Amino acid sequence: MSGVALLKCRACGHHWQFRRAACPACSAINPQPVEAAGGGTVWSVTSVHRAPLPEWDVPGGYGIALVTLDEGVRITCRTETGLAIGDVVRVTLRDGLPHATRT
Ligand SMILES: [Zn+2]
Repeated sequence: MSGVALLKCRACGHHWQFRRAACPACSAINPQPVEAAGGGTVWSVTSVHRAPLPEWDVPGGYGIALVTLDEGVRITCRTETGLAIGDVVRVTLRDGLPHATRT
């Protein structure tokens, strides 16, 4: 389990990330809170070499990736540099934020 909180529709099985009362796919209410399994694929990625905050500055920079979780939900993750579109990653929480690492 990755620790990334999702909601799952009890009627159709659709997953989504942000809290809402009704399923965006079928409008059923009463979704089930679930935790993402942690697997995903890089949909888009970029490297940051000039951090916006001094405390985020990392020698060599860091990456920001859009990752499509195995549940179908696309989330933003921090990552190491050097990832490419299509890489299979593992998503975990670090300091409360999603972090993707190549598997
Ligand atoms: Zn649904």
